[in-house]
Amino acid sequence: MKVIPIVAAVPGEDGTQSLYEAQKKIYPRAVTGRFARWRWAFVWLTQVVFYGLPWLEWGNRQAVLFDLAARRFYIFGWVLYPQDFIYLTGLLVVSALSLFLFTAVAGRLWCGFACPQTVYTEMFLWIERKVEGDRTARMKLDGQPLTLEKLVKKWFKHLLWFMLAMWTGFTFVGYFTPIDDLMLEFLQTRMGSWEVFWVFFYAFATYGNAGFLREQVCKYMCPYARFQSAMFDKDTLIISYDAARGEPRGARSRQADPATLGLGACVDCSLCVQVCPTGIDIRQGLQYECIGCAGCIDVCNGVMDKMGYQRGLIRFTTQNALKQGWDESRIWRHVLRPRVLLYAAVLGALCFALALSLALRTPLKVDVVRDRAALSRIVAGGKLENVYRLQVMNATEQPQKYRITVTGLPGLAVASESEVAVGPAESRWVAVRLQVPYGSAAPGSHPIQFQVEALGADAHVSEKAAFLVPR
Ligand code: SF4
Ligand code: SF4
Repeated sequence: MKVIPIVAAVPGEDGTQSLYEAQKKIYPRAVTGRFARWRWAFVWLTQVVFYGLPWLEWGNRQAVLFDLAARRFYIFGWVLYPQDFIYLTGLLVVSALSLFLFTAVAGRLWCGFACPQTVYTEMFLWIERKVEGDRTARMKLDGQPLTLEKLVKKWFKHLLWFMLAMWTGFTFVGYFTPIDDLMLEFLQTRMGSWEVFWVFFYAFATYGNAGFLREQVCKYMCPYARFQSAMFDKDTLIISYDAARGEPRGARSRQADPATLGLGACVDCSLCVQVCPTGIDIRQGLQYECIGCAGCIDVCNGVMDKMGYQRGLIRFTTQNALKQGWDESRIWRHVLRPRVLLYAAVLGALCFALALSLALRTPLKVDVVRDRAALSRIVAGGKLENVYRLQVMNATEQPQKYRITVTGLPGLAVASESEVAVGPAESRWVAVRLQVPYGSAAPGSHPIQFQVEALGADAHVSEKAAFLVPR
């Protein structure tokens, strides 16, 4: 059990006590190994998708474009309207459940490998290392007075950071404004004020979070870090130091037998602390600051290899396994517990339902609005007329013609134009007049159904409405 020391508060000169702890700069050492390769694989995967996707063409348009001004979302072959919000909701539910599942299985997998904060910090740190060197060189550089070399290195690092941040901001805006046009406007220095604002805003957020705040975001600002402990239990895989094997720790030569010296496997090299991006010592037990990046596993495995000891002094294991000394197959039997299997089953069913509903989606949407100005009126020919406004939304990229029919009352018919042409990915408001012979229906509100069908295509929508007959 970790004992948290209680340090007596020392009041300042004026008698007040500050609750603010100044940030200690962390200089994470570069690390190589199996998990570092995984982390970089996620950096590449996520960033190739993020930076590349807006440049991908689909037919004559950008493959993924969230056109907020026109209220259309283009995602490859789909044209989505705000009325398709349900799919976004489904996607959010799937994402949340995935997070629950990953967290229940292996703790902060998301934080350590795929979270944008981790990914961008990794990229910014890579630039920092290339310009200023690894941990010791950076610490030395920061400790020395301002020389020309220091100035040039710092300036160059910030220039590269700024360029990466700006490109990130530009790409982000490219998801909402056609990126080809945006590039042209940028080159001709005539970008719109909103685009300029969002490019700089997103660039500033990237630059600040990945360049300066780094682990502070994970420790103090991230809401996920706050509530994920509710998803952990003693069978969740977490990164742990095996104190039973490692202690008592101490330096020794490679040839020495630790048992003779009365030592455990930890050589107290402190490399696990030096690589840690949040600056903690994993040997002190499970701590909320640990983002599960597995850097300490990689570096400690390297040390174990050099010493000729078995790997895994720091490893993915569970609290129960550490306590009971379980082997790997026993650990996995407990990791795949009912809660995890339930999350997986619900997640699988939701993914299937979401994919199916997207595949079966009708590429036509219709909204019916009653004309409030003219509820019901008698018109020439002894007919009773109600007026409606129909919004017909073409969710295909071809022009379409739609036929409007109506059912629900004897003699009910469409008196206005019953066919309407709508352009590709366009929506049109159409005024529709419905008539029944006067006296053919009792006074009151009668439920009716509009049917809108695409001519020459397999798309058909029914919408409910009401026909009013006055007393
Ligand atoms: S890296 Fe391994 S051997 Fe070195 S101090 Fe950390 S736990 Fe001990
Ligand atoms: S303790 Fe290990 S896994 Fe946790 S953040 Fe530090 S290096 Fe990463």
